[in-house]
Amino acid sequence: MNFTNKTFKDFENIPEMDINERSEIFTEYLSYVKYDDQQTYRVIATSGCNSKIKLKSQFGDEFISYVSNDYLGFTQHPQVKKAAIEGILKYGTGAGASPLIGGFFDYHNLLEEKIASFFGYSSDSSVIFTTGYTANSASLQALLQKEDVAILDSGVHTSVHEGCILTNKKTFPHNNIEALERILQQYQNKFRTKMVVVDGIYSQDGDTAPLKEILTLCRKYGAYLMVDDAHGIGVTGNTGRGVLERDNIIKEVDFITGTFSKSFGNIGGFVICSPKNAKFLKFQSKQQIFSATAGASTLGIVKAIELIDQEPQWLKNLQENIRYFNNGLKKIGIELGERESAIFPIKIGDDIKTLYISKELMKKGIYTNPILYPAVSRGDSRIRMSLSAVHTKQEMDYTLSTLSELI
Ligand code: PMP
Repeated sequence: MNFTNKTFKDFENIPEMDINERSEIFTEYLSYVKYDDQQTYRVIATSGCNSKIKLKSQFGDEFISYVSNDYLGFTQHPQVKKAAIEGILKYGTGAGASPLIGGFFDYHNLLEEKIASFFGYSSDSSVIFTTGYTANSASLQALLQKEDVAILDSGVHTSVHEGCILTNKKTFPHNNIEALERILQQYQNKFRTKMVVVDGIYSQDGDTAPLKEILTLCRKYGAYLMVDDAHGIGVTGNTGRGVLERDNIIKEVDFITGTFSKSFGNIGGFVICSPKNAKFLKFQSKQQIFSATAGASTLGIVKAIELIDQEPQWLKNLQENIRYFNNGLKKIGIELGERESAIFPIKIGDDIKTLYISKELMKKGIYTNPILYPAVSRGDSRIRMSLSAVHTKQEMDYTLSTLSELI
């Protein structure tokens, strides 16, 4: 096969090849693009998670990292670690079964209560899942069937698309309110249930959804609204409740989904909704019946939720870092506009140049993610950087001056 101009996406399916043949050709493709040598993905980290990381790399072993979504630095917070360890010592490592058939412990119950009350909801308004991915995919699969339609912003996460395999799906251009309204008008008497699904903050561009306007449209046309705020919770809003807090609509959205793998520093996901919808999901979502959730290290998440309120300095540091880094980028000619998110897309455009810059940054001890097509559109390649509360000014200054020499 000629590998010129091929991307990962071209290997997703090749009609004439079976599994083994596809795996073989894909392995050849990886060595053609020297994928592993580029040291960009599936790099083996040996310690640390947020701003400082140790890696097995040809460019050195210690880096300032901008690849993690550990926004508040809680993966390393002593109290979070202690709570997780104490949980494991008390209960053991795993839950042993799926929630509906014996794998639901008091710590799971506590987490459901905590995350619901974090958003000001009653304790029976939440459901926890194994990951943020399944919180989206499993809940949508349970909620929407062939009589219904999901109307998705084109930037939503893959897990949302996966949740829509049993239902009808329509995508509207990113943050385009007029296009959304046209679809809602067109579908007015067409489907049993209409569910609009958007992110609070989008994972690649780090931009924000106009949630108030979207909610107004949903109410006007009788659609439900689901907001996945995986990248907004613990990052924006005066008390870290995310984009919904900023827009003062936490209690008005029908379904809030999120992850425990970013600001809460652990693993897992959740859905917040009305108690009756929560009950439905607890019994009807396949993942609740057939798949286990995380074990007692879950107690680390409970502690992280408490710390967002008890130690507001982490959120304050993160928000200050976002302002500081954004101003610094502006000074070196990278204008991203006002930002609420910790995600910084440094747009380069050309794939080869993007890979080159990320490699040069590695050589200088700075670890970033080059993001290429098909993760973003062709010609929109970028270096993606995520900030955390624990990046220091010194680290950011060094990164900015290194970037300015390369761009
Ligand atoms: N939603 C969004 C917007 C995400 O970016 C991600 C993860 N990158 C997820 C959901 C899935 O979260 P998790 O890693 O917990 O599966």
